Amino acid sequence: MAEKFQAVVIGGGPGGYVCAIRLSQLGFRTACVEARNTLGGTCLNVGCIPSKSLLNLSENFQKAKKLQNLGIEVGEVKLNLEKMMKNKEKSVSILTKGVEFLFKKNKVSHFNGTGSIASANEVLVTTKDNKKISLNTDNIIISTGSIPVELPGIKFDEKIVLSSSGALDLKSVPKKMVIVGGGYIGLEMGSVWSRLGSEVHVVEALNYITPGMDKEISSEFLKILKKQGIIFHLETKVQNIKNEKNSAKISIQDKTGKNSELIADVVLISVGRKANTKNLNLEKIGVSLDNKKRIKVNKEFRTSTKNIFAIGDVISGPMLAHKAEEEGIAVAELIAGQSGHVNYDLIPGVIYTSPEVAVIGKTEEQLKEGNIKYKVGKFPFMANSRAKTVNNAEGFVKILADEKTDKVLGVHMIGSHVGEMIAEMAVAMEFGASSEDIARTCHAHPTFSEAIKEAALSVEKRAIHS
Ligand code: FAD
Ligand code: NAD
Repeated sequence: MAEKFQAVVIGGGPGGYVCAIRLSQLGFRTACVEARNTLGGTCLNVGCIPSKSLLNLSENFQKAKKLQNLGIEVGEVKLNLEKMMKNKEKSVSILTKGVEFLFKKNKVSHFNGTGSIASANEVLVTTKDNKKISLNTDNIIISTGSIPVELPGIKFDEKIVLSSSGALDLKSVPKKMVIVGGGYIGLEMGSVWSRLGSEVHVVEALNYITPGMDKEISSEFLKILKKQGIIFHLETKVQNIKNEKNSAKISIQDKTGKNSELIADVVLISVGRKANTKNLNLEKIGVSLDNKKRIKVNKEFRTSTKNIFAIGDVISGPMLAHKAEEEGIAVAELIAGQSGHVNYDLIPGVIYTSPEVAVIGKTEEQLKEGNIKYKVGKFPFMANSRAKTVNNAEGFVKILADEKTDKVLGVHMIGSHVGEMIAEMAVAMEFGASSEDIARTCHAHPTFSEAIKEAALSVEKRAIHS
């Protein structure tokens, strides 16, 4: 006999598990179906968490090699990649077990298996040993995330031709690594392996990296990454990749039409991700997709079938864990008759390289395109006392404010700690802050965050320290 629930969430990533917990908090008898053996989705298992672990450890490795210059004598600094990977796995395991604990605490029923939608009120779970479990439910929330995009005709083997999952799990440091795509994954993973000793080449189709970011930030970022030793091939197309068992042969063509070849130990394909709608039986149920094959939803996350909802990477919007979480909470509250909502204008983006990149709100290009008149305030970390003291003074803060009202419209930063500092601006902007509000807020000294205050002062050309 089918078990009866008020809500069944398919997918236990940051969208799905957060949604299941919130539904349970709101009094719904809730189940979450997850195909992986562990909870946490892409983010905890093969995304945000393992990548941030390796970014941190590789940065420490690189810093340790430079300690001598700072008057700290250490012995020879050597890499033990196996231990580093174990440390990464430990972080993943602690956090995925943490979600299991939260499910127990909040009385969410966890089903380990692949969920498919048998009818608008039934989810069928197929377990690894092929057992079928039927879940009867009033509401279904699809949160099945995304999967990496392959290049036409080139399959991931995760040994030579890698997706991000393979790049997070290499057994040795490749001598040479080619990365196709200069976006979030390419630049974070490129930084990791370059710090650990690989010669890293990034092949990017556009003439800039990190599309969608403020151009000034993206060109400063490019300059810094080049200085760190990453080699960029911009405006370059990949013609063909040959997997030669022990190496990859990548044929490329630059903007002048010149063809050449890169031979590498591994090639990482990081050209974006696509919605994962496999196994769900959507067509039969009548759930429509949009023109990019993502699940189409209205403002309340409702699909074309009334009691079926979708959130996270499987719908439109930035493919970010915190966006999926916000949607998970909003949809649970909407199902409960409350007024959950997500402010899509204020979703921060952070790239966890060194220095970090952190952005929120409109870019200068978007303001120009929308004919919105704006003022710019900028402050370099070179003039920030904390940044100078800790020898970490690359980058700047840029604030865009409305020319008339002074309301902050966008903040774009590159520098140390900016991934943490962006939260200050997210809160300020949610409250509709003006640049003057920021400029008149006392910031502790000496901190990196004083650069935000100075950038705000600089909107009215009255920065003190530059
Ligand atoms: P997912 O996390 O993809 O979870 C979906 C889950 O559904 C999966 O566990 C999958 O197994 C399960 N599933 C799929 N189909 C079924 C089915 N039929 N039945 C049962 N279960 C199913 N974002 C950030 O904000 N910050 C970062 O630092 C960051 N770093 C990243 C690094 C990498 C290398 C990658 C790949 C991504 C990163 N992201 C980051 C993006 C982030 O991981 C995603 O945006 C986020 O995980 C999306 O959450 P989700 O719940 O929508 O989907
Ligand atoms: P991306 O969209 O960030 O970058 C893809 C890049 O590949 C772009 O620069 C694009 O111009 C380029 N490209 C596309 N086709 C190409 C081709 N044929 N040849 C050369 N270049 C090509 O995608 P991603 O790096 O794969 O990451 C996927 C998503 O995962 C990101 O968009 C982001 O939402 C998420 N993510 C977030 C974080 C974070 O928040 N720190 C980290 C990793 C991943």
